[in-house]
Amino acid sequence: MMNKSPADPASLDSLLDGVIRPLVRGWHVYHVPSADGMVKLDAMENPYALPTALRAELAGRLAAAELNRYPVPSYTRLKQEIRTRMGVPEGYDVLLGNGSDELISMLSAACAVPGRKVLAPEPSFVMYQIPAQMAGLGYVGVPLRADLTLDVPAMLAAMEEHRPVITYLSYPNNPTGTLFAADDVLRIAEAAASYGLVVVDEAYQPFAGATLMSALPQFNNLVLMRTVSKLGLAGIRLGYMSAAPALLREFDKVRPPYNVNVLTETAALFMLEHLDVLEAQAAALREERTRLMAQLAALEGVHAFPSAANFVLIRVPDADKVFGALLARKVLVKNAGKMHALLQNCLRITVSTEQENAAFLAALKAALDEL
Ligand SMILES: *Cc1c(COP(=O)(O)O)cnc(C)c1O
Repeated sequence: MMNKSPADPASLDSLLDGVIRPLVRGWHVYHVPSADGMVKLDAMENPYALPTALRAELAGRLAAAELNRYPVPSYTRLKQEIRTRMGVPEGYDVLLGNGSDELISMLSAACAVPGRKVLAPEPSFVMYQIPAQMAGLGYVGVPLRADLTLDVPAMLAAMEEHRPVITYLSYPNNPTGTLFAADDVLRIAEAAASYGLVVVDEAYQPFAGATLMSALPQFNNLVLMRTVSKLGLAGIRLGYMSAAPALLREFDKVRPPYNVNVLTETAALFMLEHLDVLEAQAAALREERTRLMAQLAALEGVHAFPSAANFVLIRVPDADKVFGALLARKVLVKNAGKMHALLQNCLRITVSTEQENAAFLAALKAALDEL
C-alpha cells in the first residue's frame, strides 16, 4: 500500500481545513501598507524624535538591562511609576500589556463563555471585535449617528437586549476623533453595572484634554485602558489598564507572566522620568491639530469632523480618488471609506509636524483640483 508523503502539497489544504478554525481561515492577515519614502500619516504615530542627548542616555540604560534574565513578572516599579504619573486613583493598581491590543485579548480571555457578547459603537477600533471573536464571544456593533456622535438611546437599547459582558468605548473614538460626552459614557457604565464591564479606552488621552480615570472608584464595572503608543512610544508596545482591584486580580490570571519584556520595561521607566518631553510633543501636536483644522475648514469640498485625538477625519467628494492622488504624491493616509458605511468618502489623517501637515495640505489641494 502506497501512502502519500507527509509533505504532499495537495493534502496541505485539507490539513489546514482540518486544524485551523473556520473563523480564522476566513480572515486576512492584518495588512500594513509599506510607507517607504512616504509622508506617513496613516497610523497616529508621534512624528517627533527624542532629543539626541536623551537617546544617548536611554542607550546606556538599555545596555545595562539584563537580557539574560526573565522580567520580574510583578513589574512593581514600572506599575508604581505609572500609577503616580498617570493619575491612577489611590488604592487602584494597573495591569500591563504588550500594547493595549494584548490587554483587550486578556479581557476577552477572562470573560469569554459561549453565548456571551461584547458591544461597541460603530465605527470604532477594530481590535474590539477581532480578539473577542477569537475567544468565542459574539460581537454587537451599534452605529453612531450620521454626525458620528454616540447614539445613547440605541446603545442603551442594544445593551438591554444583548446584556454584553464587555462594552468598549474609545474615548476619544478611533477612527472618528469624536470625544463622547463624559456623562453619556458614565450613563452607559451605570446601565451595565449589574452584568457587564465598560471599558473606556483612552489611547488618545494625551490629545483629548479629558479623562475618566477619576471616575474609577464610582463604578465596580469600569475598566480604564491606556497605551503609550500615541504618546510617542508606539515601538515599545506598552499598554496599561486600571479597575477595581478584585477585577484586576482576575485579569492578571490570564496575563502571560512575562508579557512585558525587559527592554520595554527599561525604556518605559526611563521615558516616565522624562514625561515632560513627550507631553511637550503632545502639546505641539494639539496646536498643529488646531492649525490643520482651520486650514481644512477653508478648503472647498472638504468636511473635517471635530477631533479630540491626534488625527482628523475628513470627508471628500471621492475618497478613493483622493487617496490615490495623495499616494501618487507620496502622502500615505488611511482610506476610512472602506471601514464602515457611515464613513463613506472619508479619509483619516494623522496630525504631524508643521512641514508634514503642509505637505499633506498641498497634496490634498492638488488632488481636489484633479477631481
Ligand atoms: C491605537 C489605538 C490603541 C493602541 O493600541 P496599542 O496596542 O497599545 O498600540 C488602542 N485603542 C485605540 C482606540 C487605538 O486607536
